[in-house]
Amino acid sequence: MRGWEAVIGIETHVELQTESKMFCGCPVRFGAEPNTTVCPVCLGLPGALPVPNEEAIERILRIGAAFECTLVEGSLFHRKNYFYPDLPKNYQITQYDLPFCIDGHLDIDVDGDELRVGITRVHMEEDTGKSIHGSESGRIHDAKFSLLDFNRAGVPLVEIVSEPDIRTPEQARAYAAELQRVVRSLGVSDARLEEGSVRFDANISVRRVGADEFGTRAEVKNMNSLRSLQRAIAYEIDRQIALIESGAAVVQDTRHWDEGSGKTTSMRSKEESEDYRYFQEPDLVPLHVDQPWRDRVFASLPELPAIRRHRITAAGVDRQAAAVMVEAGDLADLYDEAVSLGAEPRTVGNWLSGDVVAYLRRNETSLADTHLRPDHLYELATMVGEGALSSTAAKDVLARVLAGEGSPAAVAEQYDLLQISDAGALEAEVDAVLAGNPDVVAKLRAGDMKPVGFLVGQVMRATGGKADPRIVSDLIRTRAAAG
Ligand code: ADP
Ligand code: MG
Ligand code: ZN
Repeated sequence: MRGWEAVIGIETHVELQTESKMFCGCPVRFGAEPNTTVCPVCLGLPGALPVPNEEAIERILRIGAAFECTLVEGSLFHRKNYFYPDLPKNYQITQYDLPFCIDGHLDIDVDGDELRVGITRVHMEEDTGKSIHGSESGRIHDAKFSLLDFNRAGVPLVEIVSEPDIRTPEQARAYAAELQRVVRSLGVSDARLEEGSVRFDANISVRRVGADEFGTRAEVKNMNSLRSLQRAIAYEIDRQIALIESGAAVVQDTRHWDEGSGKTTSMRSKEESEDYRYFQEPDLVPLHVDQPWRDRVFASLPELPAIRRHRITAAGVDRQAAAVMVEAGDLADLYDEAVSLGAEPRTVGNWLSGDVVAYLRRNETSLADTHLRPDHLYELATMVGEGALSSTAAKDVLARVLAGEGSPAAVAEQYDLLQISDAGALEAEVDAVLAGNPDVVAKLRAGDMKPVGFLVGQVMRATGGKADPRIVSDLIRTRAAAG
């Protein structure tokens, strides 16, 4: 790869989880019996007319606004004409030169390096049906028959097209992951790769370092995890470099990523936009998104993941801990509630991103199914802050609170985990240890403070591990000096 640079642009399709489809009243439901959520409109029967789904338009505007796009005042739907068995109308209603949103960006962070990826456009279209090929591989080439399920036909689909600003497979993965987080934070789609509610197509070309022109690109489809997106791009970069170095040229084509072999193969040569004979959809009027609507959309945006991470980190929480909580969403919600009650941010952040995540994984459960409440976190953090509980004991208490054994104070009491942090109560223990170790005390008096740790250990042992070591250490210093 030395001497070469990759250029990557990503097209993302997001299925919106609206109540109904884009142009008819059929429900949007993943996993329904095949061909049960269909009607004359989404089956393209003669005379059926489309009616746009206002909620879907509201949602695409929210997506565009989250990328700080310009929301276009007057946009249009177009017909994209082509035949495929899963496309009952023989055309797809989509947008062409006047999409809803243009000129935005998404900032990503790859190991501390910031990158701004331009968003060219965000447009609205409708999804196709699904072909199910009767072959072991599920691919058409060795299939004996194919089945068609039109439940997905007409589901609102948002396409987000990036500028070719991405340079590495790692950046591409970070872009895709952050895009998913943004979409989820908006509550417009669960954006799950496994269920196909989000799909990424990667456009990849390579060029010599320092070249101004882009090379010929290939488009890779069918990656169903972020890991395979990254792998497919890395494979494609190597393939194109090897091709050019061997004296051949990259052919512009659409390629299929095969997870098993770890390779891309050509599906078809690239079609040009002229091939689709786009024209304005005659059954729909132009759309007018007026200024008050656009203002309302921007005003309704939630706190976006990047801003949320930044805010939590600024409160003193580790970057990684903040990222884990924001990724999960519900952990960050709980964090916010606990901190608003007055809990110490860093402590709560560490518990939620570390101990709680480990607990959820170990018990294969979700946060909502545990008994942990914001006031528990506040109480627990306060107990640790005041020295009533050691940080080790706090972890034990936390696990029991999660399991529903009670409030932190009650659990600490019940399992006798409270720390003795009352100096008065510890003085006698400290004095007894000092009296039993006169030679060590002599060293302290001579200015050698190293043995303090040893003496603290003695007091901890004498109290069954329940003394607050910070207070014991202070007491040893003052009482040894005074005695
Ligand atoms: P199409 O609709 O034909 O796929 P677009 O022009 O909309 O094409 O571009 C699709 C994607 O390809 C965009 O994300 C864009 O950034 C990216 N892209 C365009 N040219 C190149 C190139 N030479 N190398 C890599 N990516 C590219
Ligand atoms: Mg494309
Ligand atoms: Zn329908």
